[in-house]
Amino acid sequence: EAPALLGPAQVRELAERLGVSPTKKLGQNFVIDPNTVRKIVRLAGVQRGERVVEIGPGLGSLTLGLTETGAGVTAVEIDHRLAAELPATVAAMQPEVFADAERPRLSVVRSDALDVTAEDFAADAAPTKLVANLPYNVSVPILMHLLELLPDLRGGLVMVQAEVGYRIAAQPGSKEYGSPSAKAAWYGPWRIAGTVSRKIFWPVPGVDSVLVGYERRDEPRGTEAERRLTFELVNAAFAQRRKMLRQALQPVLGGFDRTVGVITAAGSNPAARAEELAIDEFLAIARAAASATE
Ligand code: SAM
Repeated sequence: EAPALLGPAQVRELAERLGVSPTKKLGQNFVIDPNTVRKIVRLAGVQRGERVVEIGPGLGSLTLGLTETGAGVTAVEIDHRLAAELPATVAAMQPEVFADAERPRLSVVRSDALDVTAEDFAADAAPTKLVANLPYNVSVPILMHLLELLPDLRGGLVMVQAEVGYRIAAQPGSKEYGSPSAKAAWYGPWRIAGTVSRKIFWPVPGVDSVLVGYERRDEPRGTEAERRLTFELVNAAFAQRRKMLRQALQPVLGGFDRTVGVITAAGSNPAARAEELAIDEFLAIARAAASATE
């Protein structure tokens, strides 16, 4: 029986056959270890019948782990050759993925993940999870774009550079806490789910990786309008992270008096700094600003 996942030999053979030499620019480090793939899929809790969004499927190492469960995958890949070849790779190793020609369990969107829109996912079943081994240099913008685009996801698990993973999962008051931590927290609590050895990649990257994941909160924290204003406040606060909020938030909230009034009405200290505020406190300021305008 043909192996269902890609090992080191298959990854290299496939790359050679496609004429792909991995580029740093696109963060192309391919997973060559089926055990790691199965660990990611297990930690993400992927189940038969789900529809997973995968960013950067590459040669298909993780994609095959996802489809192996019986889940469907909508994969977004920027590299033309990789995007074009993925269906053939999966069809050769797991023909059952295409057994239902009307509703194949794999579809590929050839695009920069930063440019995808809701329409790119409309043809498939609504996505339930985000699972990806993200390209290092753009992992945070890609993650934020997908979370904002697909607020109904039930959760996600991504592999990122270790420092980035710790920043995403950071709590207020810690050194790593920043705007990605605050914004990610909007969608649910994030936690580091595991660490990953460099040796499971080809080529071996110069940095360590971690798995960081979340499960969506039962109730959304706020409306879409509230989220937008909250994120504007987060951006402004962390753009001047050494300044006190009464200074840093003026570009969004207005002059000094109004800014102090709104922050105080929200129950926060106008002399606090961005790094001290949890996402719910930014949300409270957004709500106080909205009701002060009414
Ligand atoms: N998922 C594969 C694996 O685990 O072996 C490959 C992961 S590799 C770290 C990152 C992948 O993201 C590459 O296939 C790369 O071509 C793709 N990529 C890089 N930048 C991208 C972007 N902006 N949008 C979509 N895909 C991108």
